[in-house]
Amino acid sequence: MPHINSALPRSPHANHNKHSVVKQVKPVIVVGGGWAGLTAAIELVRHEIPTILLESAKQLGGRARRVPFENKVCAINNSDAETSPKKQAAIPVDNGQHLLIGAYESTLSIFRTIGVREDSILKRQRLTLNIKRRYRRDVKITAGRLPAPLHIAWGLLFARGLSITDRIRALTFCAAMSNIDFTLDKDESCLNLFNRYQQTDVIIKCLWEPLCLATLNTKIDIASAHIFLRMLREVFTHARTDSDFLYTYTDLGATFPEPAMEYIEKNGGNIRLGQRVIELNIKNLRIQGVKLNNTTIECEQVILATPHSVTQKLTAPYTELRPLHDQLKELDHQPICTVYLQYPSNTRLNTEMIGLEGTTSQWIFDRSIYGQFGLMAIVISSDGNHMSLDNDALCELVEKEISELFPQWSSALKRMVIREKRATFHSTTNCNQFRPGNKTAVNGLWVAGDYTNTGLPATLESAVRSGSRCAHTLVKSLQC
Ligand SMILES: Cc1cc2nc3c(=O)[nH]c(=O)nc-3n(C[C@H](O)[C@H](O)[C@H](O)COP(=O)(O)OP(=O)(O)OC[C@H]3O[C@@H](n4cnc5c(N)ncnc54)[C@H](O)[C@@H]3O)c2cc1C
Repeated sequence: MPHINSALPRSPHANHNKHSVVKQVKPVIVVGGGWAGLTAAIELVRHEIPTILLESAKQLGGRARRVPFENKVCAINNSDAETSPKKQAAIPVDNGQHLLIGAYESTLSIFRTIGVREDSILKRQRLTLNIKRRYRRDVKITAGRLPAPLHIAWGLLFARGLSITDRIRALTFCAAMSNIDFTLDKDESCLNLFNRYQQTDVIIKCLWEPLCLATLNTKIDIASAHIFLRMLREVFTHARTDSDFLYTYTDLGATFPEPAMEYIEKNGGNIRLGQRVIELNIKNLRIQGVKLNNTTIECEQVILATPHSVTQKLTAPYTELRPLHDQLKELDHQPICTVYLQYPSNTRLNTEMIGLEGTTSQWIFDRSIYGQFGLMAIVISSDGNHMSLDNDALCELVEKEISELFPQWSSALKRMVIREKRATFHSTTNCNQFRPGNKTAVNGLWVAGDYTNTGLPATLESAVRSGSRCAHTLVKSLQC
């Protein structure tokens, strides 16, 4: 098996960072080119550390990536899907509709680091929750133009479609959570928490349940109240703009992975696509290298920015990593389905996104913001009966629901289903105890990804925060 000499030339473009004097000779290997791995690689090259990023797929982005829209029903199993040059010509959509929020501090910061201007890729909108209900009055909650958290109190107080009791109970809940700083002594299910605070059925169905499913991708009767409250604290308690919705103007590939790749390569980093790491080389409690299909790369530092199931497999053979492996085994997965329906180009939602209550379809996004007129993305989070339907049957069900809710629309012209079966980890009660930190028991081996102990749900922000923290801790360790 050939060994690659992994030393890299220093880039003339490298940033001159004051903290860059480190005793690193061999490059750091980042395994995985999702948002966590890319962020880690950006931070490393920013500190002038030679970096090689190995990604098993033919494209970057991982679970937040571009895919071509084709008139067919297909299932994509995570990031193994490759985009052939022929397919690239098709309309670009995402492997699942994503929404960012104003509280994504680390994500917005890494965009700035690589020179991506927020207003060039994101459309900011003040929090507005439109919930369309079958046979009942729709609900609309719009945050007020007041400092946080008064903006949310205003939104609930003047919400449309809620009774006085609904509003008072929701406000009482928010005030009670604020009093305990959105933290609980013991974790419990979200439903249990809502019931303890006497939330009405309508408030649960039209506010808390959709928020929980959208952010934790977990059903409310088993979802972790710890993680849900942490999310509420991040979004509602600091600045008013933290609760803004941020819609991307472009597909996910162009939003971050592509500019990130350009930045990393310009600053001396090396990105290798189609390179699957199959084994770690660990001796005497030290990482010595990584094994690919037909080669080995020697190194002293490795960041595994792979999904937790892959990290679990790669760490399985080593007794020193057994506790980490056993922890990761406890974290289960949840799917997210996205059904893309192309209607005639004059079909409009009249807003970017609407929540749907009482149907299998949970959210509908109008992709005219991407210039894709008449294209709707319908999102179904978490597990459910829809997962046992085949793609044709799922499309039929979703189209029927949409035609009932929007009877003025004509039939869809094209359709595509994307099932991400391992979209996120399952944010069940007490799952935080199984989420590891970035440092492992093996010297020089680090882990990063949305599943690590950020306290946040599995989101882009969790991935970016984890990648950034991991790289900073690694750099610090090299400076010591
Ligand atoms: C359908 C869907 C909708 C979502 N919606 C939202 C949303 O609206 N808002 C939000 O904030 N978040 C959302 N998320 C979650 C978000 O996409 C993820 O939390 C985030 O992308 C995870 O990034 P990561 O870098 O931790 O992991 P990943 O993206 O999984 O990256 C891991 C990378 O490692 C690579 N890899 C795996 N094995 C190997 C190997 N052996 N060798 C080399 N490389 C390997 C993979 O190909 C992948 O590129 C959604 C996710 C999905 C799937």
